[in-house]
Amino acid sequence: MTAAPAIASSADTVWTATAILAPSVGCLEGDRRADVAIVGGGYTGLSAALHLAESGVDVALLEAGEIGEGASGRNNGQVIPGFKYDPDELAAKLGDAGARMAAWGGTLADLVFALVDRHRIDCAPRRAGWLQLAHSPAMARTVERRARQWRARGVDADFLDRVATARILGTDRYHAAWIDRRAGSLQPLSYARGLAGAAMRVGARVHARSPVQRLERDRNRWRVVTDQGSVAADIVLIATNAYTGDLWPGLRRSFIPAQSIQSATQPLDASLRATILPRGEVAADTQRIIFYYRLDPAGRFIIGGRGSFGETNPPLLFDYIERAAGRFFPFLGKPRWEFRWGGKIAMTADFLPRLHRLAPGVFAALGCNGRGVALATGMGKALADLARGAADADVPLPITKLNQIPLFEFRRPVLSAITHYYRLRDMMG
Ligand SMILES: Cc1cc2nc3c(=O)[nH]c(=O)nc-3n(C[C@H](O)[C@H](O)[C@H](O)COP(=O)(O)OP(=O)(O)OC[C@H]3O[C@@H](n4cnc5c(N)ncnc54)[C@H](O)[C@@H]3O)c2cc1C
Repeated sequence: MTAAPAIASSADTVWTATAILAPSVGCLEGDRRADVAIVGGGYTGLSAALHLAESGVDVALLEAGEIGEGASGRNNGQVIPGFKYDPDELAAKLGDAGARMAAWGGTLADLVFALVDRHRIDCAPRRAGWLQLAHSPAMARTVERRARQWRARGVDADFLDRVATARILGTDRYHAAWIDRRAGSLQPLSYARGLAGAAMRVGARVHARSPVQRLERDRNRWRVVTDQGSVAADIVLIATNAYTGDLWPGLRRSFIPAQSIQSATQPLDASLRATILPRGEVAADTQRIIFYYRLDPAGRFIIGGRGSFGETNPPLLFDYIERAAGRFFPFLGKPRWEFRWGGKIAMTADFLPRLHRLAPGVFAALGCNGRGVALATGMGKALADLARGAADADVPLPITKLNQIPLFEFRRPVLSAITHYYRLRDMMG
């Protein structure tokens, strides 16, 4: 079965326009051997490659497009620890495993900033915190509870009332917020390219423009086959997230691929920059169909929101998020929108990520549910641990069976209708 994913060109993103140079990587040519072969050159695959190579494992990574060409080079660069569930909720849902997951998730912004530091990755890291903005009185109570739970675990977090939120954010549109000071931001494509460079410096072989077409069992090894070569490996790690094709039976149907889209203005003038998030926090709201935003280091305002459930995003979806920016920050006036782009996220039925053992020696990690800068970096490390022979009980996420999303082929019309319905509910508060 063929597995090459469809990826739009990334030349239209603010990140390609401002990123550090990509390390020079060639495509795979000829038949090679490695201990571990990794499919996918986003944070999950790159983090796995870096952690493995750092511990002396011979690793080869194959990316279909360019490094970071999937969601990792196209996101908003918000480095947010934790999952969508509160820690108490996760413990109630999954018992000890949930408590462990919550504790691990809470450390993942530390992991990202430590990697950036250790490998001197030039990606504009800034640890000014993440605001989650309550769009309704009910969500104000939720974020207050959330802040309390994390504070009880020793985290530097606070609940902010309406006035305090407006002071930090620059608009009084929200009812309240909580701030998580473990969190921060970075230039996402530079982070991906920097991880690749770091992995290569410690010995990983990284190949771009090398779509993996199939996996073959070859006696006691796997052969990872591209159009121009192959890698024979003992272990294969699949890190293709929302860009998963038909490489492994059923994997593509185990999550819902959805587009998230963003628009970026031209750099704002100094007075506007001093009003919107002047201390450099990044933000997302609590709507069912969320909006998220930040300023980049040049002072561009970047807003993101839900895109389509297909391969492309019609212009009216970008019009919609740009109008929303005007509603949240009326004093933005009529900014010139300089970039519009989208990327794919992998949504799971319960909003939790997945770690699978697909066959002896084949693992997959996916399903970051739109919050994966920190999580995918952590999942890559977990994959590296599994490849080095860690016991299932020693990895921080449960290893689960591959399940299919029911009625997967009918998802587009159904999910589009649900999205419209939730947008209306969000507008009503
Ligand atoms: C617009 C947008 C905004 C976002 N904002 C944020 C944010 O601010 N904060 C946050 O935490 N998360 C955010 N996310 C989510 C985050 O970007 C992802 O969770 C994370 O990047 C996933 O990393 P990954 O390595 O698992 O997958 P990806 O980065 O998508 O990488 C998968 C790679 O696999 C490759 N691939 C697929 N098939 C093959 C094959 N057969 N052979 C070889 N390679 C293959 C693809 O080309 C792709 O590069 C956002 C996502 C999007 C799209």
